[in-house]
Amino acid sequence: MAELASFSDSYAEARKKFVDAARRAGAKLASYQHPEERGPGGEPLFLDVSVLGPGSASRVFVVGSGTHGIEGYPGSAAQRAWLRGRPRLPKDTAVVFFHAQNPWGFAHKTRVTEENVDLNRNFIDFSRPLPANPGYDELHPAIAIRDWNEAAVAGIFASLDAFRERNGEKAFSDAFNGGQYSHADGIFYGGARAQWANNAFRAAVETHLARARKVAYLDLHTGIGPWCEHVYLCFHPEGSPARARARAWWGERAVNLQGVTHKKLATYSGTIIDAFAAMLPQAEVTSIVVEFGTRPRQEMQRASMAQRWMRFEGPRDPVLAARVRREYEAAFYPAEPEWRTAVLEQSREFIDRGVAGISAS
Ligand SMILES: [Zn+2]
Repeated sequence: MAELASFSDSYAEARKKFVDAARRAGAKLASYQHPEERGPGGEPLFLDVSVLGPGSASRVFVVGSGTHGIEGYPGSAAQRAWLRGRPRLPKDTAVVFFHAQNPWGFAHKTRVTEENVDLNRNFIDFSRPLPANPGYDELHPAIAIRDWNEAAVAGIFASLDAFRERNGEKAFSDAFNGGQYSHADGIFYGGARAQWANNAFRAAVETHLARARKVAYLDLHTGIGPWCEHVYLCFHPEGSPARARARAWWGERAVNLQGVTHKKLATYSGTIIDAFAAMLPQAEVTSIVVEFGTRPRQEMQRASMAQRWMRFEGPRDPVLAARVRREYEAAFYPAEPEWRTAVLEQSREFIDRGVAGISAS
């Protein structure tokens, strides 16, 4: 029987549950506090790191939650439930959980950071010219609606469809959600500087993983895939040993995009898994993104537009903004017990398989 009590309604509640579960499991904890920002109730914000097993282990399996803020609620529940399952670790293996990688977004129930930045597009080299995304530049005026109503949203989708017809699915995905660095009030904005959450993540990786020889990183998300099912996104190149490891640990579905509802995946800029691997050149790194499916792709695209509207236009119409917010939150953090049960059951299994895989490799 899955423990739905692992799910939380606020960041503070999720953090407390995570920290308590980590302590009870015998994990060591480290916390990185945001020096300026707070949650909506004035609560302090942290990236919390739990280390279960020997700090000197040469094999480390890492699970991250909340790269996309609000998506951290189910990720946090998966981490807490796994810690409460009396885990027994193989020899020379540690399990490290990064809790709330974007705590501001987690607390404020949005995917982005305090600067409207998608943390998973923010890990680029800001000393070099920013990546261009001319497709997004073309789409932005249509996306940036002032009033939220069904006619306006339909107008956005008409523009997106026209772009897709002219340029194809891949160009559409690159433009829409590959990441853009030109419109701070747009969607999938990668930022103009490294976010605090980016620097905190880097500090945590350096502190806790620099000695490991074999490291795996599983980053938990929601919003891609069928309802109540998880899908894997593996970005290791075809034919690489890392891709072969992912297949050995989680099966063919780890690499064949089974269940992925995007017609074409974008080429993403500045992802956290790429930064993770680049920071650990001494280690053999295996990384994977796991998404829990929620709503159909078009509803998730609508949610992206809703987030932008709420932030930049919503304050003029708080009543409507509250309604849009409920729809937005349900898209990334469904309340249905069957969905939450599926998250706990499936996450226990794929975390266990990853831990077994890295210890045997
Ligand atoms: Zn995500």
